[in-house]
Amino acid sequence: MNVWFNPLQPKQNVLNIKEINFSQLKRRGISALILDIDDTLVPRLVKDITPDIFEWVATRKEEGFKICLTSNSRHPLRVKYIGDTLGVPAMPLSFKPFPFAFWRALQILGVKPDQAVMIGDQLFMDILGANLVGIHTIFVKHLTPETNWARKLMRWLEVKFLRGL
Ligand SMILES: [Mg+2]
Repeated sequence: MNVWFNPLQPKQNVLNIKEINFSQLKRRGISALILDIDDTLVPRLVKDITPDIFEWVATRKEEGFKICLTSNSRHPLRVKYIGDTLGVPAMPLSFKPFPFAFWRALQILGVKPDQAVMIGDQLFMDILGANLVGIHTIFVKHLTPETNWARKLMRWLEVKFLRGL
C-alpha cells in the first residue's frame, strides 16, 4: 500500500459485467469473484434472472472462477433465491463496506485477498470495503436509473469522488 492509496478509487472501471476481461484477471492470479447482486448482476427491482445472466455465470464457472454473491439487501429470501438459482453461495445482509463482509466472502471462496476481485456498482460499499481489505476492485455502472433523492445524492457523490473531488 503506497502513500497515495485511495480506498475510494476502483482499480478498474467498466460499463457492465460483460465488459470485464476475465482472461486478464486470470493472468493476474485472480481465481475468485465476489459479486454484488443489485444493479451489478441484476437490476435492483427485478426478481427473475435472465438467460444471459445464467450464461454469464456458467461461463465464469467453466473458466474456473469461484463465485460468491454479496448483498446489503434487506430481503434475504431474494438473495438466497438468486444464489440458489445460479448455484453459487450468496451472503445476504453483508454490511458492506465493513471488512468482515469481505473476510467472510474470502473464507467461503477459500482464497486470499489478492486472489479475488470485487465487482460492484457502489463506490461507498463495494469498492471502499474491498479496497480496504486488499481485494482487486472493478466498478460497474449501476443498471437501474436512480429515482429517489437519497440515491441520486449518493451517485452524485460517487462521481465527485471518482474525479478526485
Ligand atoms: Mg449494488
